[in-house]
Amino acid sequence: MTHKNKVALVTGSTSGIGLAIARVLAEDGFHIALNGFGDAAEIESIRQKIETDFGVRAIFSPADISNYDDVARMVSDVETHLGSLDVLVNNAGIQFTASAEEFPIEKWKQIIDLNLSGVFYGIRAVLTGMKKRGYGRIVNIASVHGLVASVNKTAYVAAKHGVIGLTKVVALENARLNITCNAVCPGWVLTPLVQKQIEDRAKARGMSVEEASLDLLSEKQPNVRFALPEEVGELVRYLVSDAARGITGTVQVIDGGWSAQ
Ligand code: NAD
Repeated sequence: MTHKNKVALVTGSTSGIGLAIARVLAEDGFHIALNGFGDAAEIESIRQKIETDFGVRAIFSPADISNYDDVARMVSDVETHLGSLDVLVNNAGIQFTASAEEFPIEKWKQIIDLNLSGVFYGIRAVLTGMKKRGYGRIVNIASVHGLVASVNKTAYVAAKHGVIGLTKVVALENARLNITCNAVCPGWVLTPLVQKQIEDRAKARGMSVEEASLDLLSEKQPNVRFALPEEVGELVRYLVSDAARGITGTVQVIDGGWSAQ
């Protein structure tokens, strides 16, 4: 219980990487604010399980992170109901693939609004409280696509590159205030977001799902294995720990060697 009575908000934590991060932070004693979309009964059972597994409080907000008013209301609710907001993990994100000339304008807007503006909205909404309390840890889940590109991902790659720039500015602005801001850049992690890309590839190339998984990994990720969502959680655990208080404005890569090529 290294973080007793501290509060962490993880956006997009009803699934995948965000859920794993929320559980890792709960294990360290953080009270947890969950956020995201999904089946109400499933989300309630995720929330209850965090409380019973780790003996912390957990609340849920259905805020749409691509909408600033929603985000501001969520942050104020978290501060009211859990008494503080010490850690913000900006994790909510979506993907859509198409070539630049065919990329639907609506999809472009949706991805930029969530994957880039949503990160800014979260940061903007939490900073006043963090400054007042003299403590804050902000972790932005970017992607290896914040550092390098892949075809058919204009909006996603643009948004994730933007998140890294945003991370550095926020780190500089708050460097003397005990508020750190870092980006985490995973390569392939097996979650519903990637599962869909594997299924699309299997269909397009007439492969089984297993063959498509191997095909996807071999193309970019030298260690040829998916990271587990919990491995990203462990990196976040470190970034919000006291040991990492000197780490700010950095990009932490967990990509099996992808960006070393
Ligand atoms: P996921 O689809 O499993 O989870 C996404 C989460 O975001 C869900 O909880 C969903 O409900 C929530 N969400 C979607 N739209 C939202 C909105 N408008 N407002 C609030 N919540 C919303 O995806 P994941 O793979 O766990 O991805 C999480 C993050 O990690 C994303 O930012 C993604 O870009 C990044 N990432 C994933 C991988 C990977 O290989 N899976 C690699 C690099 C980076």
